Amino acid sequence: MGLDIGGTKTLAVLLAPDGTVAAQTRLPTAPGPRGVLDGAVRAVEGVTRAADVPVEDVTGVGVGIPGLVDAVDGSVRHAVNLGLDGEALELATLLSARLGGIGVGVENDLNVAAVGAAHLLEVADPASGPVDLAFLALGTGLAAGVVLDGRLRRGSHGAAGEIGHVPVDPAGPPCACGQRGCLELYASGSAISAVWPTTSGRPAPVELFEAAEAGDPRAVAVRDRYASAVAAAVRLLVLSVDVRYVVLGGGVSQLGQPLLEAVQEALEDESAASGFLRSLDLPGRVRLAPGRVPVGAVGAAVVGRGHAARVPDLR
Ligand SMILES: [Zn+2]
Repeated sequence: MGLDIGGTKTLAVLLAPDGTVAAQTRLPTAPGPRGVLDGAVRAVEGVTRAADVPVEDVTGVGVGIPGLVDAVDGSVRHAVNLGLDGEALELATLLSARLGGIGVGVENDLNVAAVGAAHLLEVADPASGPVDLAFLALGTGLAAGVVLDGRLRRGSHGAAGEIGHVPVDPAGPPCACGQRGCLELYASGSAISAVWPTTSGRPAPVELFEAAEAGDPRAVAVRDRYASAVAAAVRLLVLSVDVRYVVLGGGVSQLGQPLLEAVQEALEDESAASGFLRSLDLPGRVRLAPGRVPVGAVGAAVVGRGHAARVPDLR
């Protein structure tokens, strides 16, 4: 079982023993320690009911949640959007107790998305072996979750994939992190809202890409600059750890194909003058996060499988 607890909604999936999605559900997230915990219990009950499987048959529960997660003890802090900005919430311990002792694992929301994307690629092509990928979240901020040889890599300080704070312009504007000209200021979803303020109430990336598609020259310039910033993030990930795939996720990825094409075009343009880059086939490594499958919840379920307190009976 996997839960992806976001600021407004919680997605839950039940994975069958073969790794496919057996059932899924979504419900609104309630804030605060109480709201989050009760919501998690309701999500587990909801999805087991949808699958007609007793809660006792669930072998492990994984939770993806924003904020600072201690994956060892399963606690979460500083999830401000969820009203968890006081003391640490011992989510794994408390949820396990509410579910009759089922093993519970907790992981950062970006990391479960990376694990979920890797899992879906493995299920789609079991012969391909362990997956190497980075899940690049283009949202309020910019960061990547990294899976190498099929394993989530957090790094020694949990900072693996924090490429949003690599400065790309030393003379650029100040970043909230204290540096100047960080990549996040050019390639995140917020970067689009900053340069292309929305007028219709629709998301800024949608308005920008539509205006560019309609031929507005200023929109074309802004879109292309954005695409090359995302391309820079892709290049950074490939040149650091040579991941086979860079999966574009986060709010901006809901643009779908037009985003993918713009980023691939930027990568092709940048490779034109470099035989070295061309040999790495950067455009061929970029993928869109699957739209219909809740990739974070799937990854959370994979994390939960690793915390299973009981061995499933597969006979
Ligand atoms: Zn920064």
